[in-house]
Amino acid sequence: MTTSFSPQQDSATSVPVPVPVIVVHGGAGDRGRDAAHIAGCKAAAAAGRSLLLAGKSALDTVQHAVEVLEANPIFNAGHGSVPTTTGEIELDASLMEGENLRAGAVAMLPPYPHPIAAARAVLDEGLHVLYGGEGAATLAEQSAQTRITSGQMRSTRRTDIDTTSKGTVGAVALDTSGHLAAATSTGGTRGQRPGRIGDSPLIGAGTYADDTAGACSTTGDGETILRLCLAFAACEALRGGATAQAAARATLAHMEKRLGGTGGMILITPQGDVGIHWTTPAMIYAVGRQGEDIRTGGDQPPENPEGQNQTGNHS
Ligand code: ASP
Repeated sequence: MTTSFSPQQDSATSVPVPVPVIVVHGGAGDRGRDAAHIAGCKAAAAAGRSLLLAGKSALDTVQHAVEVLEANPIFNAGHGSVPTTTGEIELDASLMEGENLRAGAVAMLPPYPHPIAAARAVLDEGLHVLYGGEGAATLAEQSAQTRITSGQMRSTRRTDIDTTSKGTVGAVALDTSGHLAAATSTGGTRGQRPGRIGDSPLIGAGTYADDTAGACSTTGDGETILRLCLAFAACEALRGGATAQAAARATLAHMEKRLGGTGGMILITPQGDVGIHWTTPAMIYAVGRQGEDIRTGGDQPPENPEGQNQTGNHS
């Protein structure tokens, strides 16, 4: 079994302290190792790792990493979100923490800069888990955001990227307290009809975290991911004893075989074992672990995300 759990000892208690780690993805799609996408993922992983090293929770960390990606217009999330067929922006996002299984999600959120912050407001409020449309907008306002227009979003979106890349974003993290969290944010798929909701805001499909199993963020064909509850299925594979990489590979292979859907995922275990896999041509990712350089890749799934791999960049 692969493991990256090189626990440090807490000298006062002799209790092993997990080595914190964050993994981010910039969406499964056609686009390979584009320097701007890699730089964007790297910046998000670096920002997340700094928070983890400062003792912040996995939940705060994944939210912040996704906000960094949402602020970058080359990704299909937040500012860079692709429009529906009628030109409107409808945003989906979710996040979950693994200690108490609290979760928050928004679907069909009108344009706000940070849908993941609205999802966090849902989680913090604790009343419901998923809000749609104008109800979701109320939660976005609670997260101190100001609504912008679809036109304002369009002005920051790079149209060349829109036509070649999907670019949903996500993050998973393990913090120094041993807690897990996952987050996912998207503008949906290119050419989606108004009102269409994919997997990304659905707990168990786009996002899942449980300290007793693992944390996962998915990307790709939403219509197949949500029918197979892909993020939950990957975490259950971990619970069944699979390594993170084996679990990621097996659940994505099953989706392709069963429903013909392709996609990708990032996965992490309570021990910090990382799985990164995709069945589309590419998925940019970055891994930030304490004591290591940020590792990036995206053309070919890594054989062993724990070690050096031929396709990853180290910097
Ligand atoms: N899964 C997202 C959706 O269906 C799209 C993606 O990840 O590329 O909305």
